[in-house]
Amino acid sequence: MKNKKKWTKKEINGFKKMILGKRTKVLEEYEASKVRADDMLNSETNNAIYSSHMADAGTDQQEMEKAYYWVARENKFLQFLNRALEMIEEGTFGLCKECGDLINAERLEEVPHTTSCFECKNANKHR
Ligand SMILES: [Zn+2]
Repeated sequence: MKNKKKWTKKEINGFKKMILGKRTKVLEEYEASKVRADDMLNSETNNAIYSSHMADAGTDQQEMEKAYYWVARENKFLQFLNRALEMIEEGTFGLCKECGDLINAERLEEVPHTTSCFECKNANKHR
């Protein structure tokens, strides 16, 4: 019978610390992006009232879309990190849901919320 592998408490605590660190950083970036996007939205509204330079407005529009794209991206990343923290609480973190093996630690640093190991992910792709 195959021995069921498990992360040690120490390893899990290490992951938790890593995820919380990432989350703090993303949260700061998210707040900054949000302020930036909202600022742009406000100035855009003002421009629309006080200016008739369509070309300028077009550029602003693009910049604003970019800013909101970052807000959405960071928000999504935050959800992933929260999910990973939930998985730690549930005891499913870092375990492949397909084969039950431990997921490579480097992979977990890149994608903490992942639920499949390299092998299973590749196997799925080729199926
Ligand atoms: Zn697997």
